[in-house]
Amino acid sequence: MSSLGEVKENCGVFGLYSNDKVVKQIHLALHFLQHRGQQYCGIATSDGNKIKIQSHKGMVDQTFTREDFEELDGHFGIGHVSLNDRQPMTLHSKLGDFAICFNGNIANAGDLIPQFKKRGYSFWLDSQIELLAKIIAQEESFVEGIEAINKTIEGSYCILILTPDGIFAARDPLGFKPLILGSNGKDYAVSSESRALQNLELEIVRDVKPGEIVFIDGSGFKTLKHSAGKRTAHCAFEWAYTASVDSVIDGVSVDKARNNMGAMLAKKDSGKLKADIVAPVPNSGIGHAEGYHLESGVPLKSVFLLDRYGDRSYTQATQEERNNMAKKKLSVLKEAVKGKKIVLCDDSIVRGTQIREKVKELKKAGAKEVHVRIAVPPLMHPCRYGIATRNYDELIARKMSVEGICKYIEADSLVYNTLKDLFEAIGKNNNELCLYCWDGKAFEEKQKKITEPVNQP
Ligand code: SF4
Repeated sequence: MSSLGEVKENCGVFGLYSNDKVVKQIHLALHFLQHRGQQYCGIATSDGNKIKIQSHKGMVDQTFTREDFEELDGHFGIGHVSLNDRQPMTLHSKLGDFAICFNGNIANAGDLIPQFKKRGYSFWLDSQIELLAKIIAQEESFVEGIEAINKTIEGSYCILILTPDGIFAARDPLGFKPLILGSNGKDYAVSSESRALQNLELEIVRDVKPGEIVFIDGSGFKTLKHSAGKRTAHCAFEWAYTASVDSVIDGVSVDKARNNMGAMLAKKDSGKLKADIVAPVPNSGIGHAEGYHLESGVPLKSVFLLDRYGDRSYTQATQEERNNMAKKKLSVLKEAVKGKKIVLCDDSIVRGTQIREKVKELKKAGAKEVHVRIAVPPLMHPCRYGIATRNYDELIARKMSVEGICKYIEADSLVYNTLKDLFEAIGKNNNELCLYCWDGKAFEEKQKKITEPVNQP
């Protein structure tokens, strides 16, 4: 039920090297990555000497001022959108001045920050980005710094570092989060998602490989180091929910993968359920509902109107305010649902409270039956690699069976895709995807210790 704010990505990054001032292009790129984080945004640029930086609380379109655009006058730079903290941050170090931002989550930050403090390091906010900056700054070069991160950190990270010479871009050895290179032959960019490249009229060049460190300057992209692992762990949720449908990640179209997930759900219903219409929970269920429709031939019809002014639930201070705002975001199209047998598609169920509300609203509006179809299997573990706002207590699938959830959300039936369906829909296997949400298997022994569930059902 991600469209209603239950699952949120932590952040997105973008970097660009050009011959002209880049701030407006980076700002535009961040607009196209805004769905990856809405609480903070920031841009740092360099002219080859100084690094200048501006960050704000809020969204890019509403916070950057004309003065910011004038101040950030460099011809290469990096930008960030976030749910957690202000980035990029700058550091004056023995390696020189640099600005850094990242997308991901450092699962062992809670252990490492106290260790660094014991060794005499001071922290401003105890933030993960400060930790990464300090690990880098203690080494003899940026490449050694990133390699030190690879050895020390448990978790996911796509890192951009802006120096007066150019931009370093690095992806963790398991490649949890996407990071893509793009160019028009004279400008060189790196982005969390290809949609930002496409909308800046840059062609996709390739994905940064897991474990690769790329340097970007006026001559293009140069691989400085590549430490490939035996497997990858691309976040399966990127294709199911997080990434925008117009993005392509690690060679797989998000739109296509979502359509495939919907088609898998339709196949399960074939010969068993004769629905009048299939509808998405907007926006997160759209690709899945389309896939269901294409496979089954059941007419695709909107049953909710997404309020264009209501998408601000993250700015509300209390849960009650967030619930009220979530309510305002979707209103039922009564005429479309009256007397109809509806298949309602979405990406996932976290707590179940909001899909329950939506099922109730459809029935109140006269729907004859509501059959809920969910693109990913029941969520059993909160993400430890970058998705915000989930913990063990929130996950309804840890407390109830599928039948129990179906009863709780007051649906006429409830069907989830299986893990096998998910592999097939994305076109990658279990040695390529992160499945921690479902199997709870962390990727190192040490991680297993830290991830022992606090509340076992
Ligand atoms: S734990 Fe889940 S949401 Fe987090 S990276 Fe893995 S698949 Fe993605």
